[in-house]
Amino acid sequence: MTTYKLSSNENPFPPLPGIEEAVARAAARMNRYPDAGSTALYAALAARLGVATEQLAAGTGSVAVLYHLLQAFCDPGDRVVTAWRSFEAYPIAIGINAAEPVQVPLTADGRHDLDAMAAAAAEPRTKVVVLCTPNNPTGPALTHGEVEDFLARVPGEVLVVVDEAYREFVRLEGAVDGVALLAEHPNVVVMRTFAKAYGLAGLRVGYAVAHPDVAAAIRACALPFGVSAPAQAAAVAALEHEAELMERVEAIVTERERVVEALTAQGWDLPETHANFVWLATGERTADLVTAAEEAGIVLRPFAGEGVRASIGEREANDRLVEVAAKFVP
Ligand SMILES: *Cc1c(COP(=O)(O)O)cnc(C)c1O
Repeated sequence: MTTYKLSSNENPFPPLPGIEEAVARAAARMNRYPDAGSTALYAALAARLGVATEQLAAGTGSVAVLYHLLQAFCDPGDRVVTAWRSFEAYPIAIGINAAEPVQVPLTADGRHDLDAMAAAAAEPRTKVVVLCTPNNPTGPALTHGEVEDFLARVPGEVLVVVDEAYREFVRLEGAVDGVALLAEHPNVVVMRTFAKAYGLAGLRVGYAVAHPDVAAAIRACALPFGVSAPAQAAAVAALEHEAELMERVEAIVTERERVVEALTAQGWDLPETHANFVWLATGERTADLVTAAEEAGIVLRPFAGEGVRASIGEREANDRLVEVAAKFVP
């Protein structure tokens, strides 16, 4: 029996031939260091996003970019506010910079509690707030209006990271567009990645879009030659093949809707997901569901005592998820 990995929100589609060829061409020059300035990638992104290249900072995944941002801006003891539960990498990134994680509980429906987060952001020594939209692992997305209201309440010297790792999967009317916030809010830092929608998780490339001073500070903390030449070439090729890649994203969204409908029909009360995963609030039965899933040949991500995150994958894998979940409806 085939085992399907639904535990890391990866893209189930194999690489497009044109992207694989670009990677092979770059790999043929592996005796050379990559372009330290990521020139072609920055040029392609700047054109695509309508920003200046000075506003960009690439890294080995957007998680690495967050590490560099915290390293650049946080002194020991500074506060970094996130929602919780949110992305597991946040407390690790905050901890290695000796900053203090301030975790604001999600609302009962898996959303950011922006009132409580704004109150936490106003406390002295707060340097950074991270908004995760859609939130990993629960799935709800923020609207543009919600984030604008939030920014109006947060001190201007606090950096507000808008982590848009799953942005391409969002089908919410009025969803936040981080890049559109930059013109009026120089304290916003948008983080995006090629790992999920663009299918390049294994090559490690993500980026921030920010005020030129902030982007320069992030770039200054990045490891020299961090983003490899194959990764840079793949990202540029992915932007060239964006239309085709977004058709695949659309197929994943269609699958997501099918899975959400089936689970809801079983009686699950799911948070409104706009990402390539669903959240099952399994509480004390978390480990049991994950074990049953393993027996059915699907690997899920458990959060002990809280719930299970299941990526949307191949159709067969999603069918198995629905079948297993039927036995665990709360
Ligand atoms: C996957 C993910 C990222 C990006 O990860 P990289 O592979 O490092 O680019 C960033 N934020 C969240 C919330 C994610 O789930």
